[in-house]
Amino acid sequence: MSVRLNELTTGKSARIESVGGEGALRQHFLDMGVIPGAEVTMMKLAPMGDPMQLLIHGYELTLRLADAEQIVIVPLEKSSDAAAEKKKRQRTDHPGLGEEGKFQPKGSGDPLPEGTILTFALVGNQNSGKTTLFNQLTGASQHVGNFPGVTVDRKDGVIRGHSDTLITDLPGIYSMSPYSSEERVSRNFVLEEKPKAIINIVDATNIERNLYLTMQLLEMGIPMVVALNMMDELRGNGGTVDVNTMEAMLGVPVVPISAAKNEGVDELVRHAVHIAKYQEKPLRQDFCGAEDHGGAVHRALHAVCHLIEDHAVQADLPLRFAAAKLIEGDSLISDQLRLDQNEKEMLEHIVLQMEKERGLDHSAAMAGMRFDFIRKVCDASVIKPLETREHIRSRKIDTVLTGKYSAIPVFIGIMALVFYLTFFLIGPFFQNLLQSGIDALAALAERGMQAANVNEAIQSLVLSGLFEGVGTVVSFLPIIVILFFFLSMLEDSGYIARVAFVMDKLLRRIGLSGRSIVPMLLGFGCTVPAVMSTRTLPSERDRRMTILLTPFMSCTAKLPIYGFFVNAFFPGLSWLIITALYILGIITGILAAFLFKHTLFRGEAVPFVMELPNYRIPGARNVGQLLWEKSRDFLHRAFSVILIATIVVWFLSHFSFRFNLVSDQRESMLAAISGIVAPVLKPIGLGDWRIVTSLVSGFMAKESVVSVMETLFSEGVAAIGTLAGISMLVFSLLYTPCVAAVASIRRELGRKWAIGVVLWQCAIAWLVALIVRLIGLALGLG
Ligand code: GDP
Ligand code: MG
Repeated sequence: MSVRLNELTTGKSARIESVGGEGALRQHFLDMGVIPGAEVTMMKLAPMGDPMQLLIHGYELTLRLADAEQIVIVPLEKSSDAAAEKKKRQRTDHPGLGEEGKFQPKGSGDPLPEGTILTFALVGNQNSGKTTLFNQLTGASQHVGNFPGVTVDRKDGVIRGHSDTLITDLPGIYSMSPYSSEERVSRNFVLEEKPKAIINIVDATNIERNLYLTMQLLEMGIPMVVALNMMDELRGNGGTVDVNTMEAMLGVPVVPISAAKNEGVDELVRHAVHIAKYQEKPLRQDFCGAEDHGGAVHRALHAVCHLIEDHAVQADLPLRFAAAKLIEGDSLISDQLRLDQNEKEMLEHIVLQMEKERGLDHSAAMAGMRFDFIRKVCDASVIKPLETREHIRSRKIDTVLTGKYSAIPVFIGIMALVFYLTFFLIGPFFQNLLQSGIDALAALAERGMQAANVNEAIQSLVLSGLFEGVGTVVSFLPIIVILFFFLSMLEDSGYIARVAFVMDKLLRRIGLSGRSIVPMLLGFGCTVPAVMSTRTLPSERDRRMTILLTPFMSCTAKLPIYGFFVNAFFPGLSWLIITALYILGIITGILAAFLFKHTLFRGEAVPFVMELPNYRIPGARNVGQLLWEKSRDFLHRAFSVILIATIVVWFLSHFSFRFNLVSDQRESMLAAISGIVAPVLKPIGLGDWRIVTSLVSGFMAKESVVSVMETLFSEGVAAIGTLAGISMLVFSLLYTPCVAAVASIRRELGRKWAIGVVLWQCAIAWLVALIVRLIGLALGLG
């Protein structure tokens, strides 16, 4: 009787016998190193009993029990790897950084003509340090995060000191068989835009899995240099890499670096520029051993290479890559090659024969071939540390953070602490400080203008528009920055990946997978990056559904609105009310998810296969940069969109259609225009034209609800009454996301969905506000 992976008990190891399942998911398993012959160790189950956390090829992977059931294993008495490693650890001469590749000869061949732009693609696994390296190379400040899938779009930059270069940071991929939409970006870039060279970044602490992609890249026949990153961590734990041996085996320059510490980067650039300029192709593309497992894969690959040689030239595809993809059953490549019927049949026979001789299906056989070669390379050139300090530390931290009983209370505790510190302890302190500064400035301006006899109308514009309106918004800067600070700490440390692991089972109830938790948490910061980050989700269904749910996570731009109304109606209860609003948003989101699950998005969420990175201490520079950017963006918005909206509203509310200054604002243009929409909002108690105006301006930027209110309500906002205040809070929480967010939804899902989201959010907001109002009326709050 065969044992399945889901039956493996905690702490026990096993060897994988076969991997079941089908399609893209199975290919993904294989690409991640879950292949027959590999050794796995069961680490733990998530607190809710599903998914499981495995150790494979020295890294941590999550897998749902239902998917693990497809994998047949042979339990092992004792992990064999550890024993073998111990013996090998005798040799420890470290090559060090700055070896100046002895392997690769320099300066030969014909260089590309002067003036050619050397284009580089930065390709590597997720979380291998691509963005860190990109920032080092170009001096840019792209966002770095310790979570697989932070970079979801390509970014271009020029290498410092080399003006004739252009380097592109790509989303991380595990293999050239893309699994999610952002992985496709990377594959297509390499295939279609034909960079002059590839910089393949390899995480040296996780070398086996990382080299899998390297081998597929070598098949492309594009000049390439391997950057062995995180050498600081490997070295710090007594591991080493014999770089020259590895270079000789791979046939490309290998440069040990530490992107975070900026070590070895100059040498990497020298190599990269050289191979690009002289178009030095990898010396080796043929990794299948004639002796391995009887040589079945070897013979099949070479046979297919010969079979399609002419087609590959015509389709402009690298031959070896095309052959490998054909055997793996990649239909895109097969279409591009335009084989005729005879050749297709021949291909089928070759593959069948290979499967028969190898005893594995085509995908597993190919993945096995690659990992066989990787094993040879690693045996010859890598001395792995037994278990890195970072991993030991991560495991210890995880006993609490993903522990059976502690995980969920700790998560709730951390989130509560974050919100408490942001809204109650640190935030308000700085906010008051800033507010008193703005007030002092306003007083000064008022005195100045009075002394200079400035026009009354202009005075009112400056005081109520600029200082009260925009000033109130600006005073929320500290709170917003602090919330972003905490969110980025959570992300950067590697904790968010754990939250995804812990929450997977819960999210599955509403039809999503653990991965969706990331966009949602980011949604508390800003909907725009949250929507972008859904690109890491491997299924279109999950992606759509997650995008529709992120607007329910109250973003920071709404904080000024909450603060404004809470001050007016519930002074002293701010913490309670704001928490209640956040929770109301989440609950409405959950209800919406249930609705979606049973209507728009039937079907199952995709499997949850994710790498759990080691915890890291967030880089100060990285965090500092993020805060600086957020502050700059916010101030920029305050003094552009919000200021303009405030001035326009001020103008429309002070002048009639004949451009006469009105004494009673009810005769203004604005009152007339807003009066049209007002009846719709009357049932929820927001029929006042001034409220309508502020809500409409909030579509531009949520914060301007406050600045517009300040401008229009000279008698103070308390005039609208407590019940309307509550309606206003609820409606602002839920109604349409701002233009920027809608635009990003449109980018991801198209115009129809974007318009749909606007209407749907407004409808939901109206409905919930009505319910809340009716409850309020019943309680006699009116
Ligand atoms: P990407 O997903 O490949 O773009 O990776 P990132 O650049 O976002 O980096 C992932 C994580 O690895 C971050 O926490 C970085 O701080 C960390 N990191 C990157 N390079 C190094 C390195 O050379 N040494 C160490 N110790 N950490 C690094
Ligand atoms: Mg990145």
